[in-house]
Amino acid sequence: MDQNLVKVLLVDDDEDDFIITSSLISETEGSRFQFEWASDYDAALAAIGRREHDVYLIDYNLGSRNGLELIREAIANGCQAPLILLTGQGGHHLDLEAMHSGAVDYLVKGQTGAMLLERSMRYAIDRKNVEEALRESRERYELAVKGSRDGIWDFNIQTNEVYYSERWKAMLGYEAGEIGNRLSEWWSRVHADDSERLKRDMTTHLEGKSPYFESEYRLLHKDGTYRWMLARGMALWDKGKTAYRMAGSQSDITARKRDADLLERGAFFDSLTNLPNRLAFMNRLKRAISRLKWKGTEGFAVLFLDVDRFKTVNDSLGHEMGDQLLVAIGRRLEAILRPGDFVARFGGDEFTMLTEDIRDVGDVTRIATRIRQEVTLPFTVNAREIYTDVSIGIALSSQNYDTPEELLRDADLAMYRAKTLGKGRYEFYNGEMRTRAVQFLQLDSDLRRALERHEFRVQYQPLVSLESKKVMGTEALLYWLHPRKGRIAPKEFIPMAEETGVILQVGEWVLRTACTQNASWRASGSLPFRMWVNFSFRQFQNKGLIELIKRVLQETGLTAEFLGVEITEGCTVSDIENSVAVLDALAALGVSLAVDDFGTGVSSLAYLKRFPLDWLKIDQSFIEGIGKNHDNSEDLTVAIISMAHSMHLKVIAEGVENNLQLAFLEKHQCDAIQGNLFCQPLPGATVTRLLKEGHYLSREFTWPVRDKPKKKGTA
Ligand code: C2E
Ligand code: MG
Ligand code: MG
Repeated sequence: MDQNLVKVLLVDDDEDDFIITSSLISETEGSRFQFEWASDYDAALAAIGRREHDVYLIDYNLGSRNGLELIREAIANGCQAPLILLTGQGGHHLDLEAMHSGAVDYLVKGQTGAMLLERSMRYAIDRKNVEEALRESRERYELAVKGSRDGIWDFNIQTNEVYYSERWKAMLGYEAGEIGNRLSEWWSRVHADDSERLKRDMTTHLEGKSPYFESEYRLLHKDGTYRWMLARGMALWDKGKTAYRMAGSQSDITARKRDADLLERGAFFDSLTNLPNRLAFMNRLKRAISRLKWKGTEGFAVLFLDVDRFKTVNDSLGHEMGDQLLVAIGRRLEAILRPGDFVARFGGDEFTMLTEDIRDVGDVTRIATRIRQEVTLPFTVNAREIYTDVSIGIALSSQNYDTPEELLRDADLAMYRAKTLGKGRYEFYNGEMRTRAVQFLQLDSDLRRALERHEFRVQYQPLVSLESKKVMGTEALLYWLHPRKGRIAPKEFIPMAEETGVILQVGEWVLRTACTQNASWRASGSLPFRMWVNFSFRQFQNKGLIELIKRVLQETGLTAEFLGVEITEGCTVSDIENSVAVLDALAALGVSLAVDDFGTGVSSLAYLKRFPLDWLKIDQSFIEGIGKNHDNSEDLTVAIISMAHSMHLKVIAEGVENNLQLAFLEKHQCDAIQGNLFCQPLPGATVTRLLKEGHYLSREFTWPVRDKPKKKGTA
């Protein structure tokens, strides 16, 4: 609309009236008017319909119809511009009727001067403009409220009433009519932990201390769960600086919160086991160290756990199973935590535990023992039983430790020590271990040269049949005669030799030495017995194994039936198909097969059914427990024997040291024994001498027995 030019349509059936009115108006100052005239009802209605005018002056008398009818029809047709009724004679009744019909004013001709007419039109237009702007803004607001994904709230502080938009209510699962307009509809649903913060955020803003109000809190949904909400808003203050109104929006940020939570979890939690991760552990340990340093709290211990033979599980049963085993181990570790303990998955198959308020070493050994008790119980993963164990290294807190790394390094060293001492055990860190770690590196380079320098030795330990009471074979046991360190047991260097691969050459040497020895005993006319040779995982996996054994048998002239191969369970689980093929080939050669250290590995008896085995060697740890009531060794020993027999396997008990064990094994029909009770491992030359003297096979449990030295003389 041209700001200055006001377009007026005068509706009057009398042209004279039109001329008078328009000339009257043109005299007024201020606004400029452009007058048009419609002489009858229909022409007027059509003109109004075109919406070209800013205001309509409508005469009451319009021939057969009247001005009120026109006003009503015009409004019904959507006319927005103001309509003013002009009449010849006034009256209160008509005035009211005009107002009800939608006229904005009512003027009586003859009583209305130019000024009054002009002002009436000006006010009418102005009011219409304001109304229009208001309507538009209200519409805009409604659209915004309806279209918004946010809920809208409008708090009248004076009446304590709140307008909640439909969306606001719907966000909490309610229909429009289900939530009233009290402030309590909001407050009462806020989570107890958040209400104080929400109130504080709001008060801060109402007191003018923050530019706008913003708060995050949880609200109770109709379904009983809490949803995270973000409210934003602004208040209005009166001149006395008292807030009288505050309005704003509320959005559901539950998903965002969850993502943030996950992110945070991701940083400190291991996604596979859901346990805290390395970073979280280091943080926790750092706090424990500084607490000890500054507050002198009770000591603590760090336990470093490594799953024994985990790689075998992974390689043989697949990573999926490996993963699930780790998850299951994590669960068991969690289950034995005492209040204040903290367990984390450190990485790979390593777990770490921090246990605080340690009063003495006994506290820690109890925990370590408990861990092993839990972890050695079989795991059922994908309907398959898996046996496992852990090696645990323990470092105790001391004032000398400044960083988590130092403590972990020592716990790790102790764990490594536990591994070399045979796995499935715990070791405390001591100062020597660090020295030993350095020595270990030295050992590694020594080991590579030991073969050329002829530093390896083999000893032979007899295996005695409990039925015939006679020696039925010997086991070749390797050791290393180090030029400076002296005798080094196989457990000390075989793991390292496996890692470096030297085991292949060393193993070949043992095989050749043992076969040569047995061939020579046989050649000297001794009674036939079998030579058992240990094979490591690495050797067993080696493609040339069968060829090697064939070649060595040929070279030494030993018949296959006088050779036995000992492998551990771990060897076979790695790749079952390959194991079956290798073992079948060995059996076809005529070589006997034994599973060594049975009961400590990762498989179960049922699983060994697929292999053409002859013997099963019950691990020393079970035999050691016989006669001691602290564990279930006896039950397990009996179970292993009877299950082995049902699978047509013969059983040797390893490490038999006393008569109690012997009696127990005899009672339960164990087939053979090996151990210091009867004879410790002896150098080949000693055995040769004894054989020559006719002792080796002729006496029943009377010959050289370590703990019966008197008998030695009688031999
Ligand atoms: P293993 O095959 O189970 O051998 C039996 C171990 O028990 C031997 O330890 C033997 O000396 C020990 N032992 C025998 N009777 C008793 C007893 O009454 N009490 C106790 N406490 N121990 C007894 P050693 O010689 O230290 O060998 C340890 C392991 O090293 C062997 O366990 C075997 O796994 C491995 N090993 C030995 N020689 C070789 C080898 O040539 N090649 C490979 N790959 N591994 C070998
Ligand atoms: Mg053995
Ligand atoms: Mg063994």
